Amino acid sequence: MRKYRAIVAAVLATTPIVGVSAQPADAVVPAAAKTWSSLMYTAFNGSPEIVKLRAMLPDLRRTVITSKVAIGEAIISQSAAQASVTMATSANLKARRAYATASAARKAAKTSIERRRQLAAERQRSADLNRSVVTLRTAQTRLRTATAKLAAANDAWHAANVAVRNAEQKIAAFGGYDPDAAARAAQLARQVVTDTRATFTIDDTTQVYGITVNKTIAYAFQHMIDDAAKAGVPMSGGGFRTKEQQIKLRVTNGCPDIWTAPASSCRVPTAIPGHSLHEIGLAVDLTYGGRAIPNHDSVAYQWLAANASRYGFENLPSEPWHWSITGN
Ligand SMILES: [Zn+2]
Repeated sequence: MRKYRAIVAAVLATTPIVGVSAQPADAVVPAAAKTWSSLMYTAFNGSPEIVKLRAMLPDLRRTVITSKVAIGEAIISQSAAQASVTMATSANLKARRAYATASAARKAAKTSIERRRQLAAERQRSADLNRSVVTLRTAQTRLRTATAKLAAANDAWHAANVAVRNAEQKIAAFGGYDPDAAARAAQLARQVVTDTRATFTIDDTTQVYGITVNKTIAYAFQHMIDDAAKAGVPMSGGGFRTKEQQIKLRVTNGCPDIWTAPASSCRVPTAIPGHSLHEIGLAVDLTYGGRAIPNHDSVAYQWLAANASRYGFENLPSEPWHWSITGN
């Protein structure tokens, strides 16, 4: 059984399933069926926005880390720029004092030789002062730039944190299941049946654990079988059958006639050919412990009665084994 499941899983991995990957281009899938599938996908995965946020979350979390690193680097740059400004400020202060001293000495000079000598010194100190002013302004400009970069790095880090928190809150609010999406799918079920009946071909079916079903329900059906198995209720069964198989079944099940007798008049209730949801892959007859679910007391029936609607399935009360998207 384990080995069989592994093979089935490998097949499923390459089979297009509605909601997971696109339909083949030539398949005509009714709009209602597409919507039903995508609503059931939403029921289990959240809205497209939540699916996107979940996919983005690792990148958002990485951005928090890289922006934290950027803050560290910006702090180092800003500290270095601050140290340059401090040095340039004290150099400028010294240059101003030296100039003031030279200027005073020149004014105090008594002889023309002395005046010339002090004037040359004063000019030298003036040039030194001008250079120190340029150095200080350059250092101040660099400090302003470094400070702005640090502020931007802080903003980026805050924004990244907010983005992560918002994404986490929205994902948490989804809670793993959206009953509204499933309810909206249920409202479409009859339309899905009508439209599918009009366009159905065998290409619209796929396999889920060896059960042939319409691609429309494959994703939700697989979820249901998986969750039932996890809950200790492993089930299998039969899904799609052709009109020819339905005709044979009417004979096998002893219906009074093939085309007109009501389903309930057969030994085992069997729909008139052309009317069964099995013929379009939208119904499944479920088995538990190797035989069809026999009655409403069965463990499998009890689990399905409590849970199947979460996956878009309803029971036909006269047939405990028969589950479809409308209960027909
Ligand atoms: Zn059935």
